[in-house]
Amino acid sequence: MSPVLEKDSLDTLRVMLEILESGFEKLPPAAMEFADTKAMERVLMQVAERLHDNYPYFHPLYAGQMLKPPHPVARLAYTLAMWINPNNHALDGGRASSVMEREAVAEIASMFGWEKHLGHLAGGGTMANLEALWVAGKMHPNTTIVASEQAHYTHRRISDVLGLRFEDIPCDGSGRLDVAALQKRLDQGGVGTVVATIGTTAVGSVDPLPELLSLRERYGFRLHADAAYGGYFGLVDNLRADTRAIYDRLGEVDSIVVDPHKHGLQPYGCGCILFRDPSVGQFYKHDSPYTYFTSEELHLGEISLECSRPGAAAVGLWATQRLFPLEKGGAFAQMLGRSRTAALEFYDKIRSDARFIAAFPPELDIVVWAPRATSVSAASRMTRLIFDECARNQLHLAVAKLPIDFFDVDVAEMKRDQDSVSCFRSVLMKPEHLQWVDRIWEIFDRSASTILAGLSRSR
Ligand SMILES: *Cc1c(COP(=O)(O)O)cnc(C)c1O
Repeated sequence: MSPVLEKDSLDTLRVMLEILESGFEKLPPAAMEFADTKAMERVLMQVAERLHDNYPYFHPLYAGQMLKPPHPVARLAYTLAMWINPNNHALDGGRASSVMEREAVAEIASMFGWEKHLGHLAGGGTMANLEALWVAGKMHPNTTIVASEQAHYTHRRISDVLGLRFEDIPCDGSGRLDVAALQKRLDQGGVGTVVATIGTTAVGSVDPLPELLSLRERYGFRLHADAAYGGYFGLVDNLRADTRAIYDRLGEVDSIVVDPHKHGLQPYGCGCILFRDPSVGQFYKHDSPYTYFTSEELHLGEISLECSRPGAAAVGLWATQRLFPLEKGGAFAQMLGRSRTAALEFYDKIRSDARFIAAFPPELDIVVWAPRATSVSAASRMTRLIFDECARNQLHLAVAKLPIDFFDVDVAEMKRDQDSVSCFRSVLMKPEHLQWVDRIWEIFDRSASTILAGLSRSR
């Protein structure tokens, strides 16, 4: 069988377990009461079979949705922590892992230039954004939250959960929040919070922060950055100049969400919320009689909406950041930079092929494109067919529905019978993707040729 899943690190896990065990050697031996191990094995073999039913997210030919395999260092650190199963709700539930969480989160904060902050890990970007908007609602009660039409749909839903008003603001032709439209809305009054998306989920566009910061001075709203996807890209050295200018000012916003389980090499269950002003901690105050806070120190459960949280997530993140510090020019930054180069190279291939229309150049590492056709609906149908053919050839892309205005195509050339087009979306987020760009293009090209030839025969 060809090796596509990494297994060498399993030997390291056994050594790690022995070291962990040596820390508890004063305890009398205690055998666990397991069920029949033969029966357990039978179930586990079934599990291994059942998991066949997946797209190969771990492989470079999976180039579709935002899925990036955790690094082995994260996987092993997380797995080892499972033998302890710490709960980072309170220091007593996970002493080492709580300290590791504070250290790892402080490192993320300092990536944004924050020496002081309040923050912690969360189940993911949704929970982290929920805390950001909850605090925003406390700071600016009875006001409206606005975000761009390309902001993650979770903001509207979270606002609903929190009972806060939400409105969206149109985007410009490159998928960024339209500043003129925002200003018009601000003039009408009642906006308390603006959400800037730093790397939109669909296309990776980055909202124009310098302009938003100027507007904040004039209108006094709270500014939250949803950098769940794009948060780490400030580390790379190959951003466009205008994108770089945005990242250089990211530290000036009031709160930031970043998802270590997106680009930070972590398994799912790892988002992060950061507040620039630690005094927002006052909103979290509670006097639970059942959390056994035995020390005077700040427990993470006192500054988090979620109560029980996996300490293992903090251990995985801490280990990853030891191996890959969040520094410009470092190995982690270079890996991210390669993803962006891969996207630019792939974009060039689309641009030089007359069968396809490209959207604006990728701002991060996400590429979107569509087949050229006589109408938007015909292009959408072709996308579906080529998408399926690619999957049959082991290439896994994603399909997104996006405004046709994002694409570089003449109205005379393509009939606008619908406003949005189903197009290809490829998130090239693995460091290996750069080496695989030619191979990915070759399979895409071949799959498209098969479908297009079939379509022209049937006409
Ligand atoms: C992924 C994403 C979210 C949601 O985060 P989850 O980790 O999936 O809960 C929110 N905002 C943006 C910009 C995202 O990319």
